[in-house]
Amino acid sequence: MPVDHDVLVSGAGIGGLTLALSLHAAGIRAAVVEAADLAPPLGTGVSLPPSAVAELTALGLGETLAHHAVAPAVLSHYDRHGGHLWSEPRGLGLGHPVPQYSIRRAVLQDLLLQAVRTRLGTDAVRTSTAVVRFHQSESDGVRVALRGGGRVRTETALALIGADGLRSAVRAGLHPGETPPRWSGVWWWRGLVPWQPVLGGRTVMVAGGGGVRLHVHPVSYPYDDGAQPPPAYGNGPGAPYAGYPYESLPRRGQALLHWTASVRIDPEGLPGGAGAADWNRRGRLAEVLPHYAGWRIGDLDVPALLAATPRIQGGPLVGRAPLTRWGQGRVSLIGDAAHPLLPAAPDGTGLAVLDAAVLARCLARTTPDRAAGMRLYESHRAARVAALDAMAPPPCDTLLDLVAARAPDGFAQVGDVLTADELNRWTAAHRALEAAAEAW
Ligand SMILES: Cc1cc2nc3c(=O)[nH]c(=O)nc-3n(C[C@H](O)[C@H](O)[C@H](O)COP(=O)(O)OP(=O)(O)OC[C@H]3O[C@@H](n4cnc5c(N)ncnc54)[C@H](O)[C@@H]3O)c2cc1C
Repeated sequence: MPVDHDVLVSGAGIGGLTLALSLHAAGIRAAVVEAADLAPPLGTGVSLPPSAVAELTALGLGETLAHHAVAPAVLSHYDRHGGHLWSEPRGLGLGHPVPQYSIRRAVLQDLLLQAVRTRLGTDAVRTSTAVVRFHQSESDGVRVALRGGGRVRTETALALIGADGLRSAVRAGLHPGETPPRWSGVWWWRGLVPWQPVLGGRTVMVAGGGGVRLHVHPVSYPYDDGAQPPPAYGNGPGAPYAGYPYESLPRRGQALLHWTASVRIDPEGLPGGAGAADWNRRGRLAEVLPHYAGWRIGDLDVPALLAATPRIQGGPLVGRAPLTRWGQGRVSLIGDAAHPLLPAAPDGTGLAVLDAAVLARCLARTTPDRAAGMRLYESHRAARVAALDAMAPPPCDTLLDLVAARAPDGFAQVGDVLTADELNRWTAAHRALEAAAEAW
């Protein structure tokens, strides 16, 4: 029986779009359906580790990424009083063949979307179209019910991939009765803010202690051409403005900084419960500011940065118990749909890119047996992800909490709070975690 699609992908997030490009490069036809309309810029900032950058570069996106993203030069850790603990280079400086990148999530999603539409056709991604449920059989492949334009219709595919994130409809169909995502006890807030370059301009800064964390890094280089309109996207003069208005654009000399604040809180203090996790949920300055009163990290005035942020997002950090099996038959999962918010590696973007690249290779190797390709993919990636999950809590959390417990009022020299041996063990654990997150 003829089918509508070879591979149908549910979700045009970072994972789903990378998968469409990777399948196309492998000679496999893919179509993507996306529940949202994708018109507003979605999300704040994400990181792409070198292994994910290498995959996107192999897809011909290296130059585009270099144009739109920032390659951080250094990762630096501080305690909450600004005491410097440890730094190391990033990307090329660590010997990787390609950089690590920090990028606005909407920019990354948009550049992937444009690449998919250019290579696969303008109709390859259908927005405002959600997977509702599916049914698979040996004879008919996968029958997928799609909701869009106020009606539900059924289309058929040889294979269905759930790249539909934290509340994946495909995962729900594969694992009926699974409990909803669980709150981890951590509350997060995020924002993008035009700000002068801090800490040398290309630093990923991590600070905290006592259950309170702050990450800050630039997602654009400073805008420095007064003759051009400031770009909402991209790195400066001539960078294309993709048409999404941003509330507060960088002025001359400013970059766009991304910050993530997270705080472990007592669930007893939330009598109404944490509520639903939603990447677009709004947060309030009054909620986040008290946790960072008086923080100054090098030349970064943290309360001023938070207060200048035009729109703060926030909500409970949730995750799911690991799956014992990801897919079944001709259906499988990638990215957050398969393994949302691993405590050891909270930024799932690099993992989603690697999942997509490995799945495309496995499907290509086992063509035309789509089910065999999926099982091959799952055997690789599920083991990688399980190994990463076993490394929680991240060494960074352990180190920052240890330092805060030993020196609650700060320290003068790192040697006052940590022995050389402790610091060496910690850096080794940190590198092992990064290597596990990058392994494909
Ligand atoms: C709106 C949004 C904002 C985000 N902001 C950030 C951020 O600022 N920082 C950060 O680190 N991470 C952010 N994330 C998460 C981050 O993108 C992912 O952790 C990571 O990139 C892995 O991507 P993914 O493709 O697996 O999932 P996601 O990026 O979550 O993409 C899943 C996609 O599937 C779509 N979808 C959901 N249900 C259906 C359905 N039934 N049918 C069809 N499509 C469906 C969603 O609309 C979404 O576009 C955000 C995710 C979203 C959806």
